[in-house]
Amino acid sequence: MRVGIISVFTDYHRRGSHHRGALQPQIGPLVAALLPSDLDIDVVNDTWEDPDWECDYDLVFLSALHSDFDRARQISHYYRRRGATTVLGGPMATSFPELCAPWFDAVTIGDPEGVVPRLWRDFLAGRLAPEYRAQPYDPLAVPTPRFDLVRGNPMVPISLEASRGCPFSCAFCTLTGLGTRYHTRPIELVVRDILSAQQMLTDKVAWPQRRLVGFMDNNIGGNPRWLAQLCDALAPLRIRWSSCVTFNVLRDEAMLDRLAASGCGMLYFGLESFNPAALEGMRKRQNVLDDVRRVVDAARRRGILITAGLMLSPVIDTLEDIARIPEHLRKVGLHVPTYIAFDTPIPGTPQFNRLAVSEARALLPGVPLRDLTGYTLATRPRHATPEAFIDAFKQVHQSVYSLATGMRKLADDLPRLLSRGHVAPALLDVFEVLCDAQPLPADRTFIAGTDKAPPERVPLSDADFATEAERDAVLSPWTVTDTAGRVLPHWRGAKPVYASKGRVPPEVTAGVELPLDTASVAPA
Ligand code: SF4
Repeated sequence: MRVGIISVFTDYHRRGSHHRGALQPQIGPLVAALLPSDLDIDVVNDTWEDPDWECDYDLVFLSALHSDFDRARQISHYYRRRGATTVLGGPMATSFPELCAPWFDAVTIGDPEGVVPRLWRDFLAGRLAPEYRAQPYDPLAVPTPRFDLVRGNPMVPISLEASRGCPFSCAFCTLTGLGTRYHTRPIELVVRDILSAQQMLTDKVAWPQRRLVGFMDNNIGGNPRWLAQLCDALAPLRIRWSSCVTFNVLRDEAMLDRLAASGCGMLYFGLESFNPAALEGMRKRQNVLDDVRRVVDAARRRGILITAGLMLSPVIDTLEDIARIPEHLRKVGLHVPTYIAFDTPIPGTPQFNRLAVSEARALLPGVPLRDLTGYTLATRPRHATPEAFIDAFKQVHQSVYSLATGMRKLADDLPRLLSRGHVAPALLDVFEVLCDAQPLPADRTFIAGTDKAPPERVPLSDADFATEAERDAVLSPWTVTDTAGRVLPHWRGAKPVYASKGRVPPEVTAGVELPLDTASVAPA
């Protein structure tokens, strides 16, 4: 019995194919750990490498974001044609199970822990159900991920979750769309997983790499008291770790002391914007712009590198707001953000639902689902044409990701880090600057509906399709808006699936009520 677990990925930068970044999705090793240990399992991080197209799988699990859904559908068709049973999980399956159902043998809604073992039993018994709903989140049911199955050579092979969800409700965030919830794991189990991971990887990666831990949490600081206890438990392990937190956690200097003592070397937070009106529109009220400089300096003094991402708001930002970004970045000492993206309406989020009903042409015409990544403009700018908005984005990008700005950042960071002996974050800083200094691909428009297609391919041939209609349905990219920019009806009205304490009540149905008509999701 052979099982494939594929974290589907579509290159949002359209640079080549795949994205061999330092961090890798952790869902594959987690799902593998929910299956019997004697199975023949391939964990495929599509971010790193293509699935093995020659492999004869019996069962294939796919996990996909909304923007990866075209590729997930095609991979599913490929393996189903070759006799495999396919299952889709992840945010797209959870938000829109009815839309996904025809393309997979089963879809899963919610967390994998309560679903995968049940699904496996049914699969073996030959009575797979079309839909599996998660049970309430149970931290004791979270197994130690199968780190021994991680392939490729990611810089941080030990990537796991200590918590799940986030207590905030930013309007653009997929987590808010799925339903706001926050769960922490018992700290002794987090420690157990790290020690087990180091053991599993003993013969595979060198000791310095086994000391690096990437907590893939969306917000490891969602419960500051628990985070302080976690830090105390991590300190004796002598690891170097990184994660994401919200700005409120970073403002607390006592917490920064604890984080530093525990081996934390880098923290990311969603700065999103220097424009207070845009932050308000995003419901990112935990950010305090006047305090960013102090926080960046306070963290750096303790050997913690702060990184942050920015989003341009097509609804709020003017061209002048965008042009001022490099100056703001310089003033707060960040210089080079992790990314500059576009505030993007992902179906199911409050942001999407608001734009979908607010006016007929809030979004651009013919927006492909695959372009809803944050790296392609999908919302019609209010204060400029799409072309002028993109020009402003390109200029800022060029300025911020230039070698000169990178050097300014290093000149600001390195003396402060190295004078206090913080070598690891200093090296990480250099690595980040070198990786970030990449020009934008010249052949992209960055405007949804006109941008180039993603580079990834699934090797489907004529023999894989019974009819032209089937070929179209599988290969044509799905769109979210019609030719006038109106949201297509089946994307409207998705409801959060996680209710109080993260429960998934059986009566709540996410997504649409329409029966699937493939023609209605093909390009408008
Ligand atoms: S703080 Fe981050 S993870 Fe939490 S809701 Fe906002 S964007 Fe999402």
